[in-house]
Amino acid sequence: QAKEQGPAIYQFYLPQMNERAVARLKLETQLRGALARREFVLHYQPKVSLVSGKITGFEALLRWWHPALGLVPPFQFISVLEDTGLIVSVGEWVVLTVCEQIGRWQDQGLVPHPVSVNLSARQFQQQDLDAVIEKTLRITGIDPRLLEFELTESVLMKEAETAANALQNLKAFGVQISMDDFGTGYSSLAYLKRFPLDVLKIDRTFIRDVTTNPDDATIAVAMIKLAHSLGLRVVAEGVETREQLNFLIHHGCDEMQGYYFSRPLPLENASQVLMEDRRLLIN
Ligand code: C2E
Ligand code: MG
Ligand code: MG
Ligand code: MG
Repeated sequence: QAKEQGPAIYQFYLPQMNERAVARLKLETQLRGALARREFVLHYQPKVSLVSGKITGFEALLRWWHPALGLVPPFQFISVLEDTGLIVSVGEWVVLTVCEQIGRWQDQGLVPHPVSVNLSARQFQQQDLDAVIEKTLRITGIDPRLLEFELTESVLMKEAETAANALQNLKAFGVQISMDDFGTGYSSLAYLKRFPLDVLKIDRTFIRDVTTNPDDATIAVAMIKLAHSLGLRVVAEGVETREQLNFLIHHGCDEMQGYYFSRPLPLENASQVLMEDRRLLIN
């Protein structure tokens, strides 16, 4: 009976799957040329210090300026970049662009703040990642402490032993390392201690209901304490309201990032934010 049902189901699903596959192939083809056509751009989202209320850094976030569709957010194309391996060359472009921008901001006399770059599994596992980063730092001549890498818990925990070594290599350049989306995967606390981390970023799914859901509040507080007891700075992602901000201030979270302060900004606006910060320091 199953055999009889088989072909019917097959016929029913096949056209749909084909359509999906064709759309994806089209996307892949477009993405292959996007780097050469300079269609990728970076937006910079500020991170804010609880203590000074001032900007402490940016996260660089990739966008695709599609000729017909306009600005495309990463969830629509990152997985294709990862599956096809294109993320490796796009990722190299991201690191170079960020380092060049840090250098330009410094040349303009702006206060240097670290800028973080997201690394996906594919990039992290790449053999010559070290060489690429070493070369980029050398060419741009920036202070490595101004470059930060964000890796998710799942990427780091997948092959924790290998990851620990790879992180040590990265860390040796003097860059900073953060664990992104903390709480969404499974972390071994033993590894959390062994990884040379500087920052722990609490995933925004815990921040969203932190003032209304007692469980989320408990978890967020525990994460802040955990980070501090391991000697790490802690950043809350996805802060959108004054109430969330008050909660995080009360519990001593070091830095915050979210729409409450700023959306990810195009370069000109990010530069503007830095310029305003400079005036604040002079006065
Ligand atoms: P992520 O690294 O966790 O980045 C934070 C995401 O949360 C960003 O989404 C940011 O715009 C969003 N966000 C920030 N504040 C708020 C808030 O208050 N509310 C809400 N609802 N969202 C907020 P975005 O830019 O769409 O990026 C999504 C993901 O794509 C990133 O998550 C990261 O995993 C990946 N990604 C982005 N750029 C790159 C890149 O250059 N390389 C790699 N490998 N992955 C990237
Ligand atoms: Mg991130
Ligand atoms: Mg994140
Ligand atoms: Mg995230």
